[in-house]
Amino acid sequence: MNHYDTIVIGGGPAGMMATISSSFYGQTTLLLEKNRKLGKKLAGTGGGRCNVTNNGSLDDLLAGIPGNGRFLYSVFSQFDNQDIVRFFTENGVKLKVEDHGRVFPASDRSQTIIQALTDKIAELGGQVRCQVEVTSVKKIDGQFVIKSKDETWTADRLIVTTGGKSYPSTGSTGFGHDIARHFQHTITDLEAAESPLLTDFPHKALQGISLDDVTLHYGKHHITHDLLFTHFGLSGPAALRMSSFVKGGEILTLDSVPHYSKEELTEILEKNREKSLKNVLKAYLPERLAEFFAQDLPEKVKQLSPKEIDVVLEKVKELPIPITGKMSLAKSFVTKGGVSLKEINPKTLESKLVPGLHFAGEVLDINAHTGGFNITAALCTGWVAGSLHYD
Ligand SMILES: Cc1cc2nc3c(=O)[nH]c(=O)nc-3n(C[C@H](O)[C@H](O)[C@H](O)COP(=O)(O)OP(=O)(O)OC[C@H]3O[C@@H](n4cnc5c(N)ncnc54)[C@H](O)[C@@H]3O)c2cc1C
Repeated sequence: MNHYDTIVIGGGPAGMMATISSSFYGQTTLLLEKNRKLGKKLAGTGGGRCNVTNNGSLDDLLAGIPGNGRFLYSVFSQFDNQDIVRFFTENGVKLKVEDHGRVFPASDRSQTIIQALTDKIAELGGQVRCQVEVTSVKKIDGQFVIKSKDETWTADRLIVTTGGKSYPSTGSTGFGHDIARHFQHTITDLEAAESPLLTDFPHKALQGISLDDVTLHYGKHHITHDLLFTHFGLSGPAALRMSSFVKGGEILTLDSVPHYSKEELTEILEKNREKSLKNVLKAYLPERLAEFFAQDLPEKVKQLSPKEIDVVLEKVKELPIPITGKMSLAKSFVTKGGVSLKEINPKTLESKLVPGLHFAGEVLDINAHTGGFNITAALCTGWVAGSLHYD
């Protein structure tokens, strides 16, 4: 059969969930994915463990989606993070909640999530074709005509879930934006979001160190989260979140022990005068960072002059890190910008310009923090785009 009620283009979280809900609503549904398997980008999230959602409140969700999260009020009233948790639990996937509300499969394997979504599509009678790259989409006589190199399909309803333009090696090359433009939709400016930061800081010495719950400061922005020193600079949620506020040329300061004031740290040093500085710092910091802070200073705490104590406190509480730039859109975790939300019905995610055309996931002008918020937006918009709305 080459005609379907609904065709979904793009088998990431948004497309898989759209296929599930469209099939659930009784529509004959075909999902087309150009990769060999579904969910290639999803598989890489959460360090390969799949950070499938975040278990925060609605306010937490909106705060985690700085790029147009408010557009999702109506979507979340239909399907939200608790529905995601319920969906997986009811379909046999045990989940666990980690720090910052991040939800993972208890198996610590992305494949568990992807398999559950794939099985549900099959159970509901949805069809999936992988290794099929859609090359053109048109609307002729009220029907969508979808073509790959060798095949043509028609559908009454089309759901575009092709993702943004980040990590194009996972398949998200911006084809959905071309479809949207073809139908006269506006694409807002595309920019890198959740980008690792570049720095000339002596990061070779620090490369590989990961810090839990430290604070990055820049002007009025204070971000407390985990941070990772890499071979190019800074990554981890604190750096990715800070990337919204810097371009390159700024100096961030790092507070490695935000839960202790300078006064408290001075007292700690006083109480441990007989110990080596490195050993005292090691109780609060990873060993290599403690060594880095203690280098070029006298070995024992009692040998430090008052000025040297100030130097230690400054290094620990206000380490300056000059930012030279950020990673490109292709190497950033998320794409900011996409199909303009002004032209999309927030209740149904249907185009206001072309009846039957829907968009869901990162192809829309919605961007969120890592930590499960993008995936939540993708799964929830996917569900709503696939649903039939009767009023
Ligand atoms: C390394 C990394 C880590 C991340 N970590 C997190 C995290 O911890 N938490 C979080 O919330 N978000 C995270 N994200 C972001 C999150 O993965 C994405 O926002 C999410 O996958 C978007 O889902 P989507 O379904 O809209 O698009 P995608 O997952 O990008 O899926 C789009 C699919 O469409 C297919 N496609 C595109 N064009 C065509 C075509 N012409 N024909 C057929 N198929 C096509 C692609 O092959 C792809 O499979 C991370 C991203 C990366 C890169």
